[in-house]
Amino acid sequence: MALQLVWFRTDLRTFDHSALAAAAEKGPVVAVFLRSVEQWREHGHGANKIDFWHRSVRALKESLNALNIPLLHRDIGRYDQAAEALLEIAREHGIERLHFNRQYPLNEHRRDAQVLEAFKHEGIPAHGYHDAVAFAPGTLLTGKNEYYSVFTPFSKAWHKNLKDSQLHVLDAPKKQAELSIGNNSIAALPELDQTPVNQKAWPAGEDAASDALARFLQKRAKRYNEQRDFPAVAGTSELSPYLALGVLSYRQCMQAVMSHNSGHLADGDKGLTTWVNELVWREFYQHVVFGFPRVSRHEPFQEHTKALEWRDDDEGFKAWCEGRTGYPIVDAAMRQLVNTGWMHNRLRMVTAMFLSKHLLIDWRRGERFFLEHLVDGEFCSNNGGWQWAASTGTDAAPYFRIFNPTTQSTRFDPDGEFIAEWLPELSELPAKARHAPPNDMLTKLDYPEPIVDHKAARQRALEAFKAL
Ligand code: FAD
Repeated sequence: MALQLVWFRTDLRTFDHSALAAAAEKGPVVAVFLRSVEQWREHGHGANKIDFWHRSVRALKESLNALNIPLLHRDIGRYDQAAEALLEIAREHGIERLHFNRQYPLNEHRRDAQVLEAFKHEGIPAHGYHDAVAFAPGTLLTGKNEYYSVFTPFSKAWHKNLKDSQLHVLDAPKKQAELSIGNNSIAALPELDQTPVNQKAWPAGEDAASDALARFLQKRAKRYNEQRDFPAVAGTSELSPYLALGVLSYRQCMQAVMSHNSGHLADGDKGLTTWVNELVWREFYQHVVFGFPRVSRHEPFQEHTKALEWRDDDEGFKAWCEGRTGYPIVDAAMRQLVNTGWMHNRLRMVTAMFLSKHLLIDWRRGERFFLEHLVDGEFCSNNGGWQWAASTGTDAAPYFRIFNPTTQSTRFDPDGEFIAEWLPELSELPAKARHAPPNDMLTKLDYPEPIVDHKAARQRALEAFKAL
């Protein structure tokens, strides 16, 4: 039977993989990974994410080895080299058909269109599968046949139209006969010029991801709805790095929920249904990115907000990046990000809103800083989250809703535990004082005074939005 080529990208697993399963039905499989570091860097990804990408590809190679599927590797730098690299492999090995799972951001979509065109021209069939989402973007639309721009109706339609088949989990293919194709060494991927911060927190590979999912369901999921907003509590799944690179599929997550919730996704256990909602947010942002390509061009979703006059404030931006704003919850969160490559969702909202509202600094600077540090950095969710916080996006927080960081701190870190963990200089203060250390102690604590006054900053942001 003729050889099938499977191109892996952000779907680094053998289990429940639409393209791989379809290819293996047709014949023996060869796999390929195209490393595009130059393009990833241009997209803003930093060492933490790229290191995890490397480790995940190496783990994928092991999983594929066990199935006798060789994984080829090419370094292409940029996406526009993809079509030629794949065609070369296809010619060299007499590939019958190319298979890959689709990605939805603009550059990835364009690259895939180029590849499909090049293969068509060469006379080799190629197919892109919808794998990362339950509904292919464009198949879940409003009554007016438009893409949803608000989450709640999207989520309702998602649940209403979902069929069992969309959650069907595919087995990994059976072990195939050995092929006489030499692997090129993924182990020899070049070293990174920056050191990642936190390799131990997310061990690579699909077994590690499935174990983490099982642990979440056993230990945290049932209280997810109560604990998910408290950064000092390990209450969320921390599966985002695996989901972002497709080491784990959303279908595995949904099936795991159903098996702990009498087969339900929307009813039953409150912890589990709340968690499902977050996974639907993930899908929502992928639809948004595909349906509104302007967001991939660094444009705001709400077009009228293009005119907003963001402040040029390098010093403020630096203080935010370094966790020196004088707002302990913001500073603790930024230090968590820089030191671990991950930040709790509640704090992503608080810090993003602080940058875009209190400092009135362009959200795109923050979006990029997050991607540079996040191990789970993923364009659709990151862009969606930032535009939400900056009130420029879908479902945007109304511009007049501006989180008071100190109130957020007292609500979601009531005992100041999270603050004490990341700001040891404040840990000796009584819990209540950690949210806003007294002015007369700042010098002794070696902690900065607030770089903006909440009320005045809020007013400034309101005026900037009103001026639109
Ligand atoms: P859980 O609470 O356990 O949720 C399970 C999964 O659902 C997550 O792993 C993630 O895949 C998805 N999810 C959860 N919340 C959201 C959300 N609000 N939007 C979209 N998907 C969600 N998520 C990323 O994966 N990559 C990013 O680059 C990213 N950047 C963000 C930037 C901002 C400003 C904001 C406000 C949010 C961002 N998020 C991002 C969404 C969210 O903060 C993270 O997915 C979540 O904190 C990851 O932790 P977890 O795996 O424990 O999530």
